[in-house]
Amino acid sequence: MENRLDVLGVGIDKVTSQQALEKIGEFIASGQPHQIVTANAEIIYQASKNEKMRNIINNAQMVTADGSGVVWASRQLGEPLEQRVTGIDLVNSICEQSAKDKWKIYILGSAPGVAATAAVNIRDKFPGCNIVGTHHGYFNAKEEKQILAELEQLKPDVLFVALGAPKQEYWIADHLADLGIPVGMGIGGSMDVLSGNVKRAPKWMQKMSLEWLYRLVIQPTRFKRVLALPKFMLAVKKQAKQK
Ligand code: UDP
Repeated sequence: MENRLDVLGVGIDKVTSQQALEKIGEFIASGQPHQIVTANAEIIYQASKNEKMRNIINNAQMVTADGSGVVWASRQLGEPLEQRVTGIDLVNSICEQSAKDKWKIYILGSAPGVAATAAVNIRDKFPGCNIVGTHHGYFNAKEEKQILAELEQLKPDVLFVALGAPKQEYWIADHLADLGIPVGMGIGGSMDVLSGNVKRAPKWMQKMSLEWLYRLVIQPTRFKRVLALPKFMLAVKKQAKQK
C-alpha cells in the first residue's frame, strides 16, 4: 500500500485524471495485465468488510478515488486528494485517447443491447474510437467460454467490465492474466449512462457533490446502497481519530 492513501484498509492512488490516463498509456505500452479499480465510498466500505474484495483492490495496479465521498475521506485523514477520478470520466478519457492512439476497447456487461448502444454513442462522440466488440453481462457458463474465446482472438488493449462491484472486480482478477489484456477496468453502471438509459446528474449537482442524491431520486431502488455512505463516513471518522 506504499504511496497509497489508506481508507479503511483500502489503498487509493493519489492520481489526477490526467495522471491516471498517462498511467493507462504506460500499462498498454507494457503489454502486461493491469487491473484498475475506481473505488467509491460504497465499494471501499464493502471491501473493509470483505477480505477477498479488499485483497483484489489492494493488488490492483491502479485504484482511483471515485467520487466526492472518497475525497472527503482523504481530507479527514489529513492527506487530501487533489480531485476525484470517477469511472465514467475515466471511460470517457480512455475512449477519447483511443480515437487518437487506436487503443482497442472491448465492453463486457450491462443488460442486452446497452453496451452496443453505448458503443454507437461513444463513436459519435469520439470519432475513430476503436471499440472492437461488446457483449452483455448476463451470460451463462457456455456463453462465458465464447466471450473468453472472442477476447483471445480480438486481443483488446482495454477491457471494460460492467457487472457491478465486486462481481466485475472478481471477473477481471480471474481472467485478465490468462487473457493477456493490458488493462481491465470495472465500470459499474457507466454503460447505462453512456447508452442514454440512465441520465447523469446535471453539472451543478455534480459540482455540489450531490450526484448520489440525483441517482437516488431517479433510481429509488438504490436506497439500501446509499445507506452505506453514513456508515462509511462514521468508519472514516473513527480511522482519523486513531491516526
Ligand atoms: N450487470 C450485469 N450482469 C450482472 C449484474 C449486473 O451486466 O450479472 C450490470 C448492470 O446491468 C449494470 C451494471 O452491471 O449495468 C452495474 O451497475 P451498478 O449501477 O450496480 O454499478 P455501480 O453503481 O457499481 O456503478
